[in-house]
Amino acid sequence: MKRILALAIPALLAACSAQNNKIENADPMDYAKTITAEELKEHLYTFASDEFEGRETGEPGQKKAAEYLKNEYKSLNLPSPLGGDDYYQEVPVEYFKRGIVKPTENVVAFLKGSEKPDEILVISSHYDHVGMDDAGNIYNGADDDGSGTVSILEIAEAFVKASKDGFTPKRSILFLNVTGEEKGLVGSKFYTDEPIFPLANTVANLNIDMIGRIDPAHEGNNNYVYLIGSDKLSTELHELSETVNNKFMNLELDYKYNDENDPNRFYFRSDHYNFAKNNIPIIFYFNGTHADYHKPTDTPDKIEYDLLAKRAQLVFLTAWEIANRENRVVVDKPIEESAKK
Ligand SMILES: [Zn+2]
Repeated sequence: MKRILALAIPALLAACSAQNNKIENADPMDYAKTITAEELKEHLYTFASDEFEGRETGEPGQKKAAEYLKNEYKSLNLPSPLGGDDYYQEVPVEYFKRGIVKPTENVVAFLKGSEKPDEILVISSHYDHVGMDDAGNIYNGADDDGSGTVSILEIAEAFVKASKDGFTPKRSILFLNVTGEEKGLVGSKFYTDEPIFPLANTVANLNIDMIGRIDPAHEGNNNYVYLIGSDKLSTELHELSETVNNKFMNLELDYKYNDENDPNRFYFRSDHYNFAKNNIPIIFYFNGTHADYHKPTDTPDKIEYDLLAKRAQLVFLTAWEIANRENRVVVDKPIEESAKK
């Protein structure tokens, strides 16, 4: 009798744990917390170091950065959607209108969804920066956009950890590190012209460009982020984003730059816009500009790592909700054909 009971208990436990693996039973905060200030800092002190020479598109520093990203994805056992060992989507030089640019590449990694693998959420940031000047000063681009790039690595790791526990997201996630942003949003333009997965099946894009600093308007405030674009195409995406923040993070969501009449026109100035113009709902996460913007002084020692972690956690939790809710977010305010640029 005892022996039978001893056998029955493990079977019962196994049955329970299988049931627990329903994604609804997971607490995404358990995985969000694996995105830590320490790990972001460790990545960024390498990624925005002088060794990467300012990551100018097509130059050796950018190639080193691409290799760093590829190696990180491989160490996470996160495959490339291109198959095999090829994590690079080559961007043809003809795409660059501003001067001569050498061949360059977007870096891509892919987590296949468990229930709706053909529906894709794209999480993006640009990993290029502006390189060096004639005097040999290196523009490290720690905030722009080292901060977004290392956040994507940590977000990818959090999703991989959840997957290992049996909580693979329902929809697929493409981690897209684009090149050529500083040359005119070129890597994301190429991706949306030659998408790896059909744009019609691309449910949303969360784009991160500069989330490691505090701008002068928020001096002393380590609990805010600017959101841009969340309500432009999908009321549902905006509401989802607010709900997730209220439930888990309580960051101050500043919509100042969401105003299309704002003279900075940030909505049009980073990679998400190439998705938005194709009627894919987007959210752009941004800390605002600061005195070190596009200067050699945008260095990793100036990053607010605790705040960077909170903002990256918010992106992860928002991605979790988009990837796992029953239906894909509805586009209820599509761009008129005539309004496209
Ligand atoms: Zn940038």
